[in-house]
Amino acid sequence: MPIVRVALDIPLPTLFDYTVAEGVAVAVGQRVIVPFGRRQMTGVVMECAAATEMAPERIKPVKQVLHDSAPLSAELLDLLRFCSDYYRYPIGQTVLSALPTRLRSDKPIISRVILSYRLSASGAALDLELFPKRKVVQRRILAKLAEQPCNLAQLKSLSATAGAQLKALMAEGWVESVALATSLTPSPSTACGGGAQKHTFDNAHTLTGEQQFAVDAVTAAQGYACFLLHGITGSGKTEVYVHLMHHVLQRGGQVLLLVPEINLTPQLENYFRSRFPDVNLISLHSGLSDGERLHNWQQAQAGDAQIVLGTRLSVFAEMPGLALIIVDEEHDNSFKQQDGLRYSARDVAIFRASQRGVAIVLGSATPSLESYHNAQSGRYRMLKLTGRALAEARLPAVRCININQTVMHHGISENLLREIGQRIARREQSLLFINRRGYAPVLMCTGCGWLSSCRHCAGKMVLHLNDKRLRCHHCGYQLHVPHACPSCGNADLHPVGSGTQRVESVLQERFPDARILRVDRDSTRNKRAWQTMREQIHANEVDILVGTQMLAKGHDFPALTLVGVLNPDSALYSSDFRAAEKLFAQLVQVAGRAGRADKPGEVIIQTAFPDHPLFRALQAHDFEGWASVQLAERQLAGFPPFVYQAMLRAEGKQETGVYAFLNQARAAAVELRLAVEILGVVPAALPRRANHIRAQLLVQGAKRKDLQHFLRAWQPLLDALPAQKLRWSLDVDPLEF
Ligand code: ADP
Ligand code: ZN
Ligand code: ZN
Repeated sequence: MPIVRVALDIPLPTLFDYTVAEGVAVAVGQRVIVPFGRRQMTGVVMECAAATEMAPERIKPVKQVLHDSAPLSAELLDLLRFCSDYYRYPIGQTVLSALPTRLRSDKPIISRVILSYRLSASGAALDLELFPKRKVVQRRILAKLAEQPCNLAQLKSLSATAGAQLKALMAEGWVESVALATSLTPSPSTACGGGAQKHTFDNAHTLTGEQQFAVDAVTAAQGYACFLLHGITGSGKTEVYVHLMHHVLQRGGQVLLLVPEINLTPQLENYFRSRFPDVNLISLHSGLSDGERLHNWQQAQAGDAQIVLGTRLSVFAEMPGLALIIVDEEHDNSFKQQDGLRYSARDVAIFRASQRGVAIVLGSATPSLESYHNAQSGRYRMLKLTGRALAEARLPAVRCININQTVMHHGISENLLREIGQRIARREQSLLFINRRGYAPVLMCTGCGWLSSCRHCAGKMVLHLNDKRLRCHHCGYQLHVPHACPSCGNADLHPVGSGTQRVESVLQERFPDARILRVDRDSTRNKRAWQTMREQIHANEVDILVGTQMLAKGHDFPALTLVGVLNPDSALYSSDFRAAEKLFAQLVQVAGRAGRADKPGEVIIQTAFPDHPLFRALQAHDFEGWASVQLAERQLAGFPPFVYQAMLRAEGKQETGVYAFLNQARAAAVELRLAVEILGVVPAALPRRANHIRAQLLVQGAKRKDLQHFLRAWQPLLDALPAQKLRWSLDVDPLEF
């Protein structure tokens, strides 16, 4: 009997074998329903085999082959196999987590894309003479489909119950669905190079020399090539993407454009739609309903969506005609998934491009040091945009204010307040950037020094004055603000430091008539809120914006001429070796908001360290200089990109259990005697969260291959360790420490 090996959402690093009944056609990539223990589960056929090692009495048959979606391509399955192996995550969970929720379930899919139905091979083999006479409607449907494929409306003309009967026929595997205008297997015409396609292209701008050079370099590439498009903010990277897309679309290919989570706004979608008015563009992100996501995914799969615009999860979208991948803001940390399959969508995209033999473009004003290093060493090709696209638009002037030598008002310097006042008078906008929401990061007792610590975490509770609460941003625990110190009874409790709410109230006091808008996760909790706020900003109904990093990225606010950065210093001396890199990127982003149109912009940074090299580089708009100093430091210290890392994390209620596990893991690692460096077991940056003790163990290798080799040997040992009452995970190429 033929055997299929099925990927299931089970935390074991194997596929599961099942038999297939005689006469049932099943292909690799098809979804199937199988019994598992007492349950039944939906899985994906990864392999067909002639034999199994399982005892014949234990092996069970596939319960049902699902024909309501096209099989996954061998190419996608290969990509998922690679991810499972590289990120050390069970194959079944890898495959299932890459699929839209609807495809993971066993509920029949009646999709909006799939409009045509036809007989399957087994359906065509049926002898209608022998078909049960009492199933009248089913017989009629089968007879009709034997003549030609039909859509649902045509079938419903046969009988009012045709919909339900069709489902029954599909469940038997006799009828299958076909996407309209394409067949289940992508037709050759949608594959790249399969023929020219005409589309309307709004060619708004003549490219600058640098832009044209970049476009030419990418379009001239044969097969796989990875480009780093390093262009300052406002240099017109988006315009380069648009022209590259145009080039691919003309040849009938599909384009995948990955953007950070926070950037995927309706505006961005509309922008690309406006440039390609008659091209089918779909988006894929976690904000879609399950139905929408499936619908969009299937359009990509059918080759009907020519442009797929998505966040990290869209790197797994099935795209038969994929001819170009673009990763915008490639340095952004939201490309890395922080739980489950801990993949980097950027890195997976690079693998995908090389697997498929197409070009990939990584774009950023502040590339990650990993990518920058790869471009310098020649592994990627560097493309530079050094000037702003609009001749009048200048880079903003950057100035530091020493907070120890000036008058401060609750965290805002007098000079900055004066500058804001001038902007209000000129009807220009100001933005104050502070990476902390709430009113103040901690509440303190002036009598005994008590601090508002979270009782469940090693962190502090943040003061939120709007609803008079202390809130832990790590575990969500909250309390009413106490009237007196819980420790000594003193009534004099003081907020220490500033968050967005406090900045807002200081500004309101100083500028009572100003229209102030606070943009952070608290004020934009409602889905529509952020959208409305953006409209207000564009309509110039706002004088001062106070916001967190939500405001830093990718938005174009033409009236904005002043950016104030309130407290960047903590990142300068952080234990996270990437903190400075992140801060630099963030400040370039936020500075890039100022002076985008015809008005020059200014950036004022409040710091205790005005001479710090980071601020100097920022003032000189010198990413290159900054990056080369950082890279030299990383090389000396033996940090990425000069080593490759993997982090083993564990957490549990018992400290002894957590450390015992990690110490055993470490001993097992040492015993392997492989070419990696095994560091010590240490507490996590937040050593206790929601009453769980957290610790970690870092392993690093000089070569990716060495580390991968080690991880393959180590993983089974980890799986075999006793790990009661604790959770552990392996994070390959970790970004968070
Ligand atoms: P980036 O993505 O690099 O920050 P954008 O692509 O948003 O930059 O471009 C900045 C501005 O310059 C936009 O308003 C864009 O329309 C304009 N622009 C881009 N390229 C050109 C060009 N070649 N000629 C004129 N304007 C351009
Ligand atoms: Zn006290
Ligand atoms: Zn907490």
